[in-house]
Amino acid sequence: MGFSLLPDRVIGSIFNLNVKALAEGGVRLLLADLDNTIVPYSVSEPTEQVFSWVNRLDQNGIRLFIISNNRSKTRIKQYCARLGVPYVDHAGKPGTRSFLRAMEQMHVSPRQTAVIGDQIFTDVLGAKRAGLFVILVRPIDLSHPLRALRYQMERPVIAAAKRKMNR
Ligand SMILES: [Mg+2]
Repeated sequence: MGFSLLPDRVIGSIFNLNVKALAEGGVRLLLADLDNTIVPYSVSEPTEQVFSWVNRLDQNGIRLFIISNNRSKTRIKQYCARLGVPYVDHAGKPGTRSFLRAMEQMHVSPRQTAVIGDQIFTDVLGAKRAGLFVILVRPIDLSHPLRALRYQMERPVIAAAKRKMNR
């Protein structure tokens, strides 16, 4: 089976997401990565800005669902409980199991679903394997050397995605 590493959209941050356009395109479920997409690693309290972002999704008929590879169960659980959104931790991206389970749980089709995340080889690859529309955001925090290195490795793919978007 063929699949792509190229995201369908590349944006700077979740707060730049065109929620209205997504809703008008029929999207009802947004499967979002947590770490470095919505919050920096180790943060366990949603900010006001994140709360209002989730409200904006809700007002446009889009349910947020967190799909995280993180294994520290208490933090993800606490964060998502505060935010009032369903989640899967230890998700095994780029495996597709968690994406499929979330769509089934929320009773939506792949065409009504979009994915948002910060990593090519987990978030984007997993989403494309599941046949989903995927938006890549710039990682929030690149100060960790290994994360910065990984981002450097992803840059050619991101550049290719941007060229494709502009065609
Ligand atoms: Mg991430």
